[in-house]
Amino acid sequence: MTFQRNSRVHPARIRQLNDADPVRSGPAVYWMSRDQRAEDNWALTAAIDYSRSSGCPLIVVFCLVDGFLDAVWRQFDFMLTGLQETEAQLHACNIPFIILTGDPEITLPTWLKENRVGCLFTDFDPLRIKLHWLERVIRSVTIPVIQVDAHNIVPCWEAYPRAAFGAYILRRPLMRRMQEFLVDYPELPVMPSIGFCTRNPWRKLYDQAAALDGAPPVCWLDPGSRAAHEMLETFITTRLDQYSDRRNDPCTDAQSHLSPYIHFGQISAQRIVQTILASTSSSSGDMIEQVFIRRELSDNFCFYTPGYDRLDGFPAWARRTLDDHRMDTRYEQVAPERLESAETGDSLWNAAQRELVIRGKMHGYLRMYWAKKILEWSVDPETALATAIRLNDRYSLDGRDPNGYVGIAWSIGGVHDRAWGERPIVGKIRYMSRTGASRKFDIDRYIHMIDELERTEEKEKTDEGISGASKGTGTSNH
Ligand SMILES: Cc1cc2nc3c(=O)[nH]c(=O)nc-3n(C[C@H](O)[C@H](O)[C@H](O)COP(=O)(O)OP(=O)(O)OC[C@H]3O[C@@H](n4cnc5c(N)ncnc54)[C@H](O)[C@@H]3O)c2cc1C
Repeated sequence: MTFQRNSRVHPARIRQLNDADPVRSGPAVYWMSRDQRAEDNWALTAAIDYSRSSGCPLIVVFCLVDGFLDAVWRQFDFMLTGLQETEAQLHACNIPFIILTGDPEITLPTWLKENRVGCLFTDFDPLRIKLHWLERVIRSVTIPVIQVDAHNIVPCWEAYPRAAFGAYILRRPLMRRMQEFLVDYPELPVMPSIGFCTRNPWRKLYDQAAALDGAPPVCWLDPGSRAAHEMLETFITTRLDQYSDRRNDPCTDAQSHLSPYIHFGQISAQRIVQTILASTSSSSGDMIEQVFIRRELSDNFCFYTPGYDRLDGFPAWARRTLDDHRMDTRYEQVAPERLESAETGDSLWNAAQRELVIRGKMHGYLRMYWAKKILEWSVDPETALATAIRLNDRYSLDGRDPNGYVGIAWSIGGVHDRAWGERPIVGKIRYMSRTGASRKFDIDRYIHMIDELERTEEKEKTDEGISGASKGTGTSNH
């Protein structure tokens, strides 16, 4: 295929989604969606290679959609700051970057036609809404639509032909093909100027984001690719050695905090894996297991399971056992609103929920406990699943991600897990208790840390003399 022949990108990473031929008189466009970065981006590389070999100018377009999958101000702010940095990097290479607002299935085909675009590149995302947009765009255009998996190390469609039952199934093909796909990224070239360089209306976009309901931006994590690379560097030099032994202890800062950056595509997982492999830490293997195998397992599940966020995505044994226990007495039923405001009878759970609301990121170990308790306290599994997804997507910076849907489906619906001993309400779904958690870490210390965090947050708000809502505007890095 032409697009593969003329590209430095591994041919298996690129696929044409329709039969159209390119129109060489018009520009090529990369519709950037999931991989919101200029560097280390195979989709952009493929578009650049096509532009150079065909002589067609290249433009990058991003479609900004209001209220995307429950996203609120916090997530939009993080994303916009990353995109602003991407714009600057692209402009330095003479590549125009245009933000379109509105539903991509409508705005994008219109814009492509108005600008007589000859060929469309895009990145890969297994989420339903993204697949739907893409399908509608393909139906509305007569130019080639080329997809490049710039998110996974082994392209999702190449790794395994169906949903893998568990990590043990996918690990082998991924490890076998890892080196083949860990090709060094080429440098971003300076393209010939096409005398067209628009600036996007950032102030207006930030104001629109701030007008959205919901949690304010966070102060502890700077958005953007530069900050992502700094976070990776700091993690490797100060925390990676502790990763194997301490990452399940919420009182120890041993996780990487890379998930928001990976989610918004501000850093590539391939770059993380190559950097970790070059380190000499004894924790490297455990980190690779998470950031490569477990993360790509999530994409595999969502890509091949249309109901990845519904009960019908759960394995049959899990659906059966949850059904068997539908009528069990819920000894402590907690309404979704009381969960959201952290008003349950479990101080550990409440602290985890407060961490999510304040920091936009809950510790990885507690995410499992948090979701499993939602199952125990909800009127039925459907309500539990919907509540966990809503809270995760609304407050978590890394929410609305295959990892989130799979993490919740693992906790509530036994996805990628096996049946365990039977208990009331949860049936054979793996159970987690506060007593079990107390064997892993000092629960009182964790709760105290979150109390402190909340006090600091309150004090900052009072000191600044402004409400929580206007605080984020002042701290964002626009
Ligand atoms: C109920 C529940 C909800 C979750 N929601 C999300 C979510 O919305 N977004 C999200 O990215 N992850 C989610 N996870 C997976 C995991 O908890 C987070 O990826 C991790 O805590 C992110 O923090 P970190 O980057 O500091 O992690 P680290 O431990 O430093 O891991 C590095 C990277 O490895 C990957 N990773 C780590 N653990 C997992 C895992 N269990 N499954 C898949 N990939 C993993 C992530 O890409 C992560 O950024 C969820 C897990 C559960 C149980």
